[in-house]
Amino acid sequence: MNKKLKVAILGALFAMTSGAAMADAKNPKIGFSIDDLRLERWTRDRDYFTAAAEKLGAKVYVQSADASEQRQISQIENLISRGVDVLVIVPYNATVLNNAVREAKKAKIKVVSYDRLILNSDIDAYISFDNEKVGEMQAQAVVAAKPKGNYYLLGGAPTDNNAKMLREGQMKVLQPLVDKGDIKVVGKQWVKDWSPSEALAIIENALTANGNKIDAIVASNDATAGGAIQALTAQKLQGKVPVSGQDADLAAVKRVIAGTQTVTVYKPLKVLAAEAAKLSVQLVRNEKPGFNASYNNGFKKVDTLLLKPTPLTKANVNLVVDDGFYTKAQLSAN
Ligand code: BGC
Repeated sequence: MNKKLKVAILGALFAMTSGAAMADAKNPKIGFSIDDLRLERWTRDRDYFTAAAEKLGAKVYVQSADASEQRQISQIENLISRGVDVLVIVPYNATVLNNAVREAKKAKIKVVSYDRLILNSDIDAYISFDNEKVGEMQAQAVVAAKPKGNYYLLGGAPTDNNAKMLREGQMKVLQPLVDKGDIKVVGKQWVKDWSPSEALAIIENALTANGNKIDAIVASNDATAGGAIQALTAQKLQGKVPVSGQDADLAAVKRVIAGTQTVTVYKPLKVLAAEAAKLSVQLVRNEKPGFNASYNNGFKKVDTLLLKPTPLTKANVNLVVDDGFYTKAQLSAN
C-alpha cells in the first residue's frame, strides 16, 4: 500500500472513531433545537438564525420540541447522531438536558444555550438579552403608570431560567416600594409554559379573590400579558390596570397602541440570531467569540454574550417600524 493511501485510510478511521471530531470548519452543520415553534417569537428566531448561518457557510437543521421535555431530548440525540458540529439549544426545561449535553460533548460537539440558560451542564456559551434588565424595564413602566397600589406578579414558566432572572429584575424595582408601603403584592404565580390561557385563568381567579382590587399587573411576556388583559376586559378594567410584557409580539404592540398594555420590551431578534450564528460558527472554527458577561449555571461559569433590550411604550412604538420588525401596515391592520 502506498504511503499516501495509508495516511488517508488512517485519517478516515480516526474520523469514524472520534465521532463528529472532524468538524467541517468551512461548512459547519448546526443543529437548532427550539423549545416551541408554535409561538410567534421563535419562528422569527429560526428564520433569522438560518439566514445568518447560511451566509456564513453553515447548514442548519431545525427541530421543535413543542414544549415536550422528552421530545427535545430525543431530537437532540438525533441531531448528535446526524453528526452536527454544534448544537444551538432553546431549552424547554433548563434542568433536564445534562445527559444530552454530555453525549454531545463526548462526540466533540459544541453546545450553545440560546436565549435561555441550560443549567448544571457543560455548555460552551450562552447568548441572550439581559433578562434582569428586561424585568427591571417591565416593573419600571408599570410603576410609572401606577406608583402605589395592589400589585399582581405574573411570572413566566417555572421550567425557564429566564422567568427567575426576570423576577429578580422586577423585584429590584418593586422591593424598595414594597418596603416603603407604597406597593402591596397581593399575589404571584408562575405560568406553566408561558401559556396565555393559564394566565387568563390565574388573573380571573386573582380578580375574584381580591374583589377586583388589583391596581397593576407585572406580566413577564406578551403571551401571558394577553391572557391577563383578556381577564381584565371581562371586568371592564382593560386600560385602567397597567400591564407589562416583552417580545413586541404583533398583538402586544397593537395593545400598546390601543392603551390596554402599558409596555412591551423590544428585543431585536435579528441581532440575537445573527450573533448566535456567528459565535456558533466561531466555536466550530476554534476562534474566540467576543463575550461580555459570564453566568454560573451550577456546573461552570459560562461565557456569555448579553444584548440590550429596549422598553416600548406608546411614546416610542415607531421604533419597531424604523427597525424593520414590522411594517406600518401591519401595525394599523385590524
Ligand atoms: C423568552 C421570552 C419568551 C418566553 C416564552 C422566554 O425564555 O426570553 O422572550 O416570551 O420565553 O416563549
